[in-house]
Amino acid sequence: MIRMSNATMVYDNGTRAVNKVSLRIDEGEFVFLVGASGSGKTTMIKLLTAEVRPSGGKVLVNNYNVGEMKKRQIPYLRRTLGVVFQDFRLIKSKTVYENVAFAMRTIGARGKAIKERVPYVLDLVGLTGKANEKTLNLSGGEQQRVAIARALVNNPRLIIADEPTGNLDPARSLELMTLFQKINELGTTVLIVTHEKGLVDAFEKRVVVIDQGEVVSDQTGGYYQI
Ligand code: ADP
Repeated sequence: MIRMSNATMVYDNGTRAVNKVSLRIDEGEFVFLVGASGSGKTTMIKLLTAEVRPSGGKVLVNNYNVGEMKKRQIPYLRRTLGVVFQDFRLIKSKTVYENVAFAMRTIGARGKAIKERVPYVLDLVGLTGKANEKTLNLSGGEQQRVAIARALVNNPRLIIADEPTGNLDPARSLELMTLFQKINELGTTVLIVTHEKGLVDAFEKRVVVIDQGEVVSDQTGGYYQI
């Protein structure tokens, strides 16, 4: 659940990266966030993950108030989120299984829970056969799916993916978006930042367009113009 009202982010150098954005994303939605380079997409994500705090307005994420929460509460907010980074951020020397299990250990999950949950999410992303492979031996698409499995393993309410198809060819990109759609159908809210117009059009989902820090279009149906 995301509620932004008049959310504004001005960096120390005076750049107004997000300007009075009001945006509501409900549980269970699938939303694409699109916009040109420099339009404020990354800053929007940073506001949602509390990597930066709003300079003005209000940002609520899964009932946490990003502008007012104490620093020590931030890890609790982040436990409700699964973030997929463009550069994967995997531990290359560890296996697929270990990368995903590690995310559960960091929040104190027990061995039994890990043994049950990790195979389930690896199956979901189609990586059961690669569980014992080191991630450095995987293709870009497979590594991306490990990153998604890791983001999903702690059962977040909201998945945020920043340019998840940035390093993939068109066929793999389509597969990956189909995987996000499946994850969404299983109940997780999905927010995807992307440049890829063709993909966005193919899925006919809600598309929020941001330009110079402002939401300039918010409609369902896929097609968008900047
Ligand atoms: P996008 O992800 O759409 O490329 P960003 O949110 O990264 O956009 O950037 C939006 C604007 O904020 C740009 O003008 C960018 O130069 C500026 N910006 C981003 N991060 C910082 C920062 N740490 N300090 C100052 N300006 C920044």
